Amino acid sequence: MLVVMKAQATPEEIQAVCETIELLGFRAHPLPGAQRTAIGITGNKDEVDRGNLEELSGVAEVIRVSKPYKLASREVKEEDTVIRFAGTDAVIGGRNLAIIAGPCSIENRDQAFAIAEHVAASGAQFFRGGAYKPRTSPYAFQGLGLEALRIMAEIRDRFGLRIVTEAIDNESLDLVAEWADVVQIGARNMQNFSLLKRVGHLRKPVLLKRGLSATLEEFLMAAEYVMSEGNYEVILCERGVRTFADHTRNTLDLSIIPAVQRLSHLPILVDPSHATGRRDSVLPMARAAVASGADGVIVEVHDHPEKALSDGPQSIFPGQFATMMNELEQIAPVVGRNLPRGIHIKAAKA
Ligand code: PEP
Ligand code: MN
Repeated sequence: MLVVMKAQATPEEIQAVCETIELLGFRAHPLPGAQRTAIGITGNKDEVDRGNLEELSGVAEVIRVSKPYKLASREVKEEDTVIRFAGTDAVIGGRNLAIIAGPCSIENRDQAFAIAEHVAASGAQFFRGGAYKPRTSPYAFQGLGLEALRIMAEIRDRFGLRIVTEAIDNESLDLVAEWADVVQIGARNMQNFSLLKRVGHLRKPVLLKRGLSATLEEFLMAAEYVMSEGNYEVILCERGVRTFADHTRNTLDLSIIPAVQRLSHLPILVDPSHATGRRDSVLPMARAAVASGADGVIVEVHDHPEKALSDGPQSIFPGQFATMMNELEQIAPVVGRNLPRGIHIKAAKA
């Protein structure tokens, strides 16, 4: 159920409606919009009795949400969600494209700084790097853990880049939430519901990757798990799914972009690196991602991919990343977008 407040409803009226919902034993999720505030109701097994709610002061109407995902759906919030990063001009969602770039894994300080310098020079606003790696083999490099988080924090201080890194379990989540700007939940954890709920308690944006065989509804339900706990800053990410095709590591399902945008207000990025697994396919698919309406891309970049401890074959060279930025900059206006170059840190107020 959804309570739509009148455009002129006061904060006190919104608060009173939320309290009434909570008194009924449900959870209230106030979602401010440009025109009016909507209040999502979750936790109800059956239909909520709309009678009492409709009579409360400031309420315009009470409507039923038809989709199983409520807070993630456009029925509850019409306008696109735009995620902002305090103290900077960086956004994910809206007109500006978000570009996240960096190595698959943080291998050491020199490697991470060298790559960060390249991607910052080309105008990326976000730096990615794995500290905790979900590897198919237990013998493969598992990540530097806390040491990697510390290196990325230094990179944020040095270049201004906002940091995106993955949490793989409860233990790593506590640390990642402390150090990162965006918490990534990987494809293999998309249906780790206890982890999703914990992420829902954070007040930090979450990059949620689509599971290897997840349907659109399962993907949006995973986002709903996070949002139902009160964290509404979810960024979806298409990273390819398993199919019979063996010319790429996974199959990039770009047709999910318009489908997500029809059903949900959440931003959606594309990861052409994991989707294709091949360096030569990353640029063409990054172009296609932006052309298809994605809110940005996340790509793996390495200055010595032949020596990379993970995902070398799909990591593009810094020069290719610079080319990608130039190409995306040209495609962006064709689809009503803009590619910002570099991150601007606002001076702290005295
Ligand atoms: C990654 O981003 O390095 C990663 C492991 O991604 P995914 O969860 O999409 O495989
Ligand atoms: Mn990787």
